[in-house]
Amino acid sequence: MDAPLSRLPLFDIKGEQAGFAAELHRRLDAVLAHCQFILGPEVAELEERLAAWCGARHCVGVGSGTDALLIALMAEGVGEGDAVFLPAFTYTATAEVPLLLGARPVFVDIDRHTFQIDPADLARRIAWVRNEGKLRPRALIGVDLFGQPADWAALGEIARAEGLFQLDDAAQSFGASLHNRRLGTFGDATAVSFFPTKPLGGYGDGGALFTESDARAALYKSLRSHGEGASRYEVLRIGINGRLDTLQAAVLLARLTRFDAALAAREKISRIYDRALAGLVETPRRVPGSTSAWAIYSVLLADSEARQRARQALSAAGIGSNVYYPRPLHRQPAYAAHHDGTALPVSDAISERILALPMHPGLAEADVMRIAEVLQSAL
Ligand SMILES: *Cc1c(COP(=O)(O)O)cnc(C)c1O
Repeated sequence: MDAPLSRLPLFDIKGEQAGFAAELHRRLDAVLAHCQFILGPEVAELEERLAAWCGARHCVGVGSGTDALLIALMAEGVGEGDAVFLPAFTYTATAEVPLLLGARPVFVDIDRHTFQIDPADLARRIAWVRNEGKLRPRALIGVDLFGQPADWAALGEIARAEGLFQLDDAAQSFGASLHNRRLGTFGDATAVSFFPTKPLGGYGDGGALFTESDARAALYKSLRSHGEGASRYEVLRIGINGRLDTLQAAVLLARLTRFDAALAAREKISRIYDRALAGLVETPRRVPGSTSAWAIYSVLLADSEARQRARQALSAAGIGSNVYYPRPLHRQPAYAAHHDGTALPVSDAISERILALPMHPGLAEADVMRIAEVLQSAL
């Protein structure tokens, strides 16, 4: 009998820890020694490191990726009567934030090959909203999905012409680049998440905002601390409790020492997948001129039945898989009532066929080959 094969999880947070364990313990011990758990020195150190790493002028650490999106829209005064354009095929947080502020999300379809927000559909929907005259086109939340950057050249051109605030939701994609520029400076602001399974994940919730604007950075710092002014007990505006924890900053500083190596490993694994799966499924199309952070490696199956067969075979072989996203947002109960009823055919079709396979820096070539064999026999 063959020896039992090891399980292959979708992510491997524990496995990655070995690469920076000594630095992690040193960093955590330092925090336990000074006990400045709120906005301790590690937060400012991380902000400086991350801003330098992606070439942004400012980085402001916040409580989560969702807080980053929320604070960015609060700072612009987005609210009632405003239309915020965002892809239908994304995580719920992107659409939740405009609604929390009383604004309306307007769902935009995606490109069928890269899964990124489709600039032509964005332009069309802005025109519809202007024609209808009920909502004011106000902001674009462009999502960099699965680790790849969206088409920021095209998106930026449309947003500038229409006077929209450009928010880059890079929650999944910090570490990616477009034409040799890392994400962090493409929008008026860029939101990042440090949720544990994101490419630069912490050990709890965390996030950051990047901006080139001194005024916006100052507002973000105020908004993350209850709208405080020059002193802690001067309240200038309505804010939130949205700070990045010192302990999370310490974890991230440790993890950052392995970030470049992890990104390189993910890229290498993606190439092995591309070759091993060619002809079997549709492998992810790369955004031209980009590098990906490979948060998620998603392939397309022929149809939902083929996806079901693939998932069953992978599961039986102890291989993790998941569907991002089984339902586009316009079909979610919470958002259906806020949708204008227009069709989003690509988002609908992709949600039936997409499947995420294991992706983390610890995957070996033999692991990918085993995954390919299981898929081969199932399909
Ligand atoms: C994860 C994610 C968020 C939210 O980040 P949290 O840190 O979980 O709040 C927002 N947008 C997208 C696209 C995400 O994937």
